[in-house]
Order: sequence, then structure tokens, then C-alpha cells
Amino acid sequence: MPDAREIEDVCRPAAGAAAGHAASRSRPLNVAILGSTGSIGGSTLDVAAASDGRIRPWLLAACRSTSRLAAQAQQVQPAWVVVTDEQAAADPALKHLPAGTRLAVGQDALCELVQATEVDRVVSAIVGAAGLASTWAALEVGKTVALANKETLVMAGPLVMQLAARQGAAILPVDSEHSAIMQALRSGSAREVRRLLLTASGGPFRTKPAEMLATVTPAQALAHPTWSMGPKITIDSATMMNKALELIEARWLFDIPAEQIDVVVHPQSIVHSMVEFVDGSVVAQLSPPDMKLPIQLALDHPQRYDGPARRLDWATAFQLDFEPPDVDRFPALLLGREAASRGGTAGAVLNAANEVAVQSFLDGQIPFTSIAALTKSMLDTHPFDAEPSLDDILRLDAWARREATAWIQNQLAS
Ligand code: NAD
Ligand code: MG
Repeated sequence: MPDAREIEDVCRPAAGAAAGHAASRSRPLNVAILGSTGSIGGSTLDVAAASDGRIRPWLLAACRSTSRLAAQAQQVQPAWVVVTDEQAAADPALKHLPAGTRLAVGQDALCELVQATEVDRVVSAIVGAAGLASTWAALEVGKTVALANKETLVMAGPLVMQLAARQGAAILPVDSEHSAIMQALRSGSAREVRRLLLTASGGPFRTKPAEMLATVTPAQALAHPTWSMGPKITIDSATMMNKALELIEARWLFDIPAEQIDVVVHPQSIVHSMVEFVDGSVVAQLSPPDMKLPIQLALDHPQRYDGPARRLDWATAFQLDFEPPDVDRFPALLLGREAASRGGTAGAVLNAANEVAVQSFLDGQIPFTSIAALTKSMLDTHPFDAEPSLDDILRLDAWARREATAWIQNQLAS
């Protein structure tokens, strides 16, 4: 693991990008928001709107939600809107963009535009493996990336971190746990870190008996007790696959062995994660569950400003509870640990199988408990490669999607 001060360097924008920081510039920070119509994208626009002109949405990108995208464009007048789905781009709603806003279509156009010299920071907030290509494109030219799309690091952590280092590109975590760890790591050197403690809300089924999990419905799984998020990550929170993905994300982002990362269930979602140092001291970051805070920090880093995120109310009594996770009821956690330890193609296969399984659960095809079972089956049987190229990873992603679909068809047929 690098020294905590080295981590600070990694997290600090590279020389070129640092010139784009609000404190040292006469113009606003131009931000490309990939996935602007989603939950993180919407919160990013809220942060920009409350930034007193510090942050300017320069590009907005989405897949199919064109009416929302057009409405956002009217509001913030970006230089570009990008629709990656070509059919959706024909939506008449996009015919009436503001005068200074241009429309581009397709993933290649998005990858080209994130590399534009005008872009100071890229918010990577597309959901799933679809976020990898544009994040990669941004890092390739040394852009500072505010990373919400954890799947990028889950699929290709070592390659992505090597690319960022080679290009002098900073990756600033938006995931609240990793943002908390980035902040807590300032308290000591890498040598002094004993372990990272990722907190997990436990999701809507934290207290549900094992025998009832097979029959929970998508609507029940989508009712998260503390966070309001997009559907995929909400289901991941219910299975605790989200924590599994975050364990892998932390392993690569902070270059720390999986054995030094633990998960603690904390139902209030106020302590966003912690770092335990060798002397037994534990440093935590606290704030209400509100993604606007880590988003703002990733955009303004290394500075802090007053902002729109909710505050803790210390005048009212509240409680913070902690308990160990139950890996028997939530076996996805074990899969995340395994993929973080094995590295190679394990993360990409875990991620792809999980994406297929989540969609299939949402479509009512498989029970909730099959999500982890299906993912485990793909992880166990895939042709593991310890040092894959990006092409190998994409090939295994496609393999896992095909095999997972066949697994579901088999289950439906039996
Ligand atoms: P969401 O479903 O609300 O939004 C997804 C966005 O991605 C939409 O704008 C959609 O149009 C876009 N998109 C989907 N496929 C695309 C494609 N092929 N090309 C271009 N755009 C595409 O998702 P979300 O909850 O905002 O999550 C986004 C990412 O952030 C995920 O990786 C998630 O794990 C991560 N994250 C989310 C939260 C949260 O609070 N929502 C917290 C931490 C991390
Ligand atoms: Mg998180």
C-alpha cells in the first residue's frame, strides 16, 4: 500500500488538471457529467447549481432518458449533450436544445468528447460495465475523474490504476465509503494503517430471516432504508453485493490487500467508513446519507466549500449502531472478498454475472437468493486469467453475460 501522503498525491489533480481548479482559475471548472439523468448525475447538478458558479456542467450524457436530458440542458445550457443510444437520440425532445448546446450521438462520440481540452473534470456516473469505456477514455488523456462508477475498478482495477498513474490522472472517489477512507487516511502514513473498515447499511433485509429471503419481491428490495439511489445499486445493497463491489474497489483504489479490508454493518449510514491504525486508533468520517457531499468533495478536492449537503443535527439525540455482517444470509460478501483476493478476471466476471442476475430479478425471472448463487456459479467456472489485458476483460464480461443468461434459461425451464 502506498504512503497515505502518496495517496493524497494520487488523489490530487495532476499538474494540468490542477490548473483547472476553481481557486487558481478565472473561469468555472468545466465538468463532463456522464450519466447526468441518474441519481448521482442529478445530485451532481444540484452541487453545481449551489456552487456560486464555481462548477459548470459542460457536457451531459445519458443513454435513453432523453426528455430528462433535454430538460437538464434547458436548465444548465451545457456545451454538449450526448445520447449513447442511437434510437433514443431521435427523440423530438432533443430538437429544442438551447442555442449554445450541441448534440452528439453514440459511445464513440462520448469517448471523444470527454477528452476535449475544455473538460477539467469528468464525473463517471454511468451505471454498470457501460461506464468503463468513457472513464478509460478520460484517464487516457490525464483527466481528473470523480468516480462513482465503481464497476470500472471492479472490472479492471489494476489496469485502470496503472493507466491513471502513467497519465498523471487523478481518480477521486465519489462512493461515500471511499470518500470517507480518502479523508480518514490523512491521519497517518500507509505503514500505520492496520485495516480499512467499510460500513454497510445492511439494506432492507438486514433483519429478515434467511428462509424469507427467497420470496422477497423487487418492490421490497428497492425500498432502501437510508439511501435513495438508482435501481441497480439499490438491489446490490439489498444483496450486499454493493459492499462486495466496494471491497474490490477499495482494494485497487487504495492498493491495499483484501485481507486488510473489513465490512461492518452500520444501519444509520452516518459513519461512511473508517481507517484503523496500528495503535488501535480508528478515524471515521460522519455526515447524513447524502451523496452531494462526496460528489462536491470530488469536484472541489483538495478544497472544501459550504455546500447543499445535509448536516448532522447535534442538538438532537441519535444513535450509531455497529454489528458484524451475516455472510450466511448475504453470501455475496464472500464473493467480493474472493474476487478482491484473486484479482485478474474475477472482478469482471463477478460484475457481469451480477448485472445479468439483478436485471433478471427485477424482471421477475429469478428469486432474490439466485442473484448470489448465479454469480458464484460464474465465478467458480470461468476460465480465470491472472493478468488479463483490457480486451481479455471485455471478452470475459461478454462470456459471463452469455453464460449467466443460459443459467437463467435453464432455471426457468426446470
Ligand atoms: P442510475 O440508474 O440512477 O443512473 C444511471 C445513469 O447512467 C443514467 O443517466 C443513464 O442514462 C446512464 N446510462 C446507463 N447506461 C448508459 C450507457 N450505456 N451510456 C451512457 N449512459 C448510460 O444510477 P446511479 O444510482 O446514479 O448510479 C450510477 C453509478 O454510481 C453506479 O455505478 C453506482 O454504483 C454508483 N454509485 C451510486 C450511488 C448512488 O447514491 N446512487 C452511490 C455510490 C455509487
Ligand atoms: Mg457506497
